[in-house]
Amino acid sequence: MKIHEYQGKDILRQFGLPAPRGIPAFTVQEAVEAAQKLGGPVWVVKAQIHAGGRGKGGGVKVAKSVEQVRELAEQILGMQLVTHQTGPAGQKVRRLYIEDGADIQKEYYLSLVTDRGTQKVAFIASSEGGMDIEEVAHATPEKIVKVFVDPLAGLTPEQGAQLAQGIGMPADSTAQFIDICQRLYRCYMETDASLVEINPLNRNGKGQLICLDAKFNFDANALFRHPEIVALRDLDEEDPAEIEASKFDLAYISLDGNIGCLVNGAGLAMSTMDTIKLFGAEPANFLDVGGGATPEKVTEAFKIMLKNDRVKAILVNIFGGIMKCDTIATGVITACRAVNLNVPLVVRMKGTNEELGKKMLAESGLPIISADTMAEAAQKVVAAVQPSATA
Ligand code: ADP
Ligand code: MG
Repeated sequence: MKIHEYQGKDILRQFGLPAPRGIPAFTVQEAVEAAQKLGGPVWVVKAQIHAGGRGKGGGVKVAKSVEQVRELAEQILGMQLVTHQTGPAGQKVRRLYIEDGADIQKEYYLSLVTDRGTQKVAFIASSEGGMDIEEVAHATPEKIVKVFVDPLAGLTPEQGAQLAQGIGMPADSTAQFIDICQRLYRCYMETDASLVEINPLNRNGKGQLICLDAKFNFDANALFRHPEIVALRDLDEEDPAEIEASKFDLAYISLDGNIGCLVNGAGLAMSTMDTIKLFGAEPANFLDVGGGATPEKVTEAFKIMLKNDRVKAILVNIFGGIMKCDTIATGVITACRAVNLNVPLVVRMKGTNEELGKKMLAESGLPIISADTMAEAAQKVVAAVQPSATA
């Protein structure tokens, strides 16, 4: 789960981390009042969306008067902000953050992320903050330093010093830098974050460090113990299909292709998507209906897939283990009738009661295309969306 920058900065402050004073605003009037309250003389008007790259996209602007804050708020609020993380359609700006303008001398990069390879939290730092860290990693990887934190010891002062040295932090700011790193580590662990990124961490003319941006991702599996974080969720920033799916306990992720996939088991769902791609088409979604899918759940899954008008065919790929093939056949038949299916449907099922399930589908009178192997199923569904290419 993601949150907005202003919410992330509130969390940083709770852990004693330095961030500029700021006030969120939902209207232009609130932005003006926030600017008056902060008092200036320099403000930054910042679009709040769940994506980075806002500065380059025109969503972060400096103001030198309250009147200018008003103009920028009018301009940014409601705009469709396009960044390299939003996709070409962009994201509508519904919230602003009005913040004290900082004296920027040098921008550093600092982040924490769970590293599956080492099974530790990785601290990543760079002297090249502010801009695209992906570009730095690509062009000048030597400018990125990493340390991996032992979960029993936590981030040690020595490791903090190693990071400071690695990014060329001036000596008079090193003690504060190490303190920031240690507080960030506590913040990361205690909030069950899966990513915390401070880009930039600014050093001002007096050598003081301050977090000018804050990006948090939280581990969804740990949210049950953080109601205060769940309360920060902004559904406007999330995919409506994914929100709908989560209500029915379906693991659903929207993708860009045109073949809807309904599969049980995450591994089978992944390999189903791979097979579709192998035969030259693109999946419209990832969908794992889980081990205990009922006909109702399958029907909801069909409804969610069909709301996407890019979907031109559906592939159902089921392994009948604990869940029997005839149960799934009942679900598919019920769902097809309930949703008035109007795109080709390919079904492949294997496992317990396979024969019975196939017989039920064949006798249902529905125009279901059946397939025996994964390859055959993928080829048939790809042919259904690209008739000319495979005719
Ligand atoms: P994003 O990463 O989405 O582009 P940031 O919050 O990092 O958004 O802002 C982009 C840039 O704007 C920063 O790299 C920094 O140079 C500048 N900036 C952000 N906040 C402030 C601030 N409070 N004072 C001065 N400059 C800022
Ligand atoms: Mg940033």
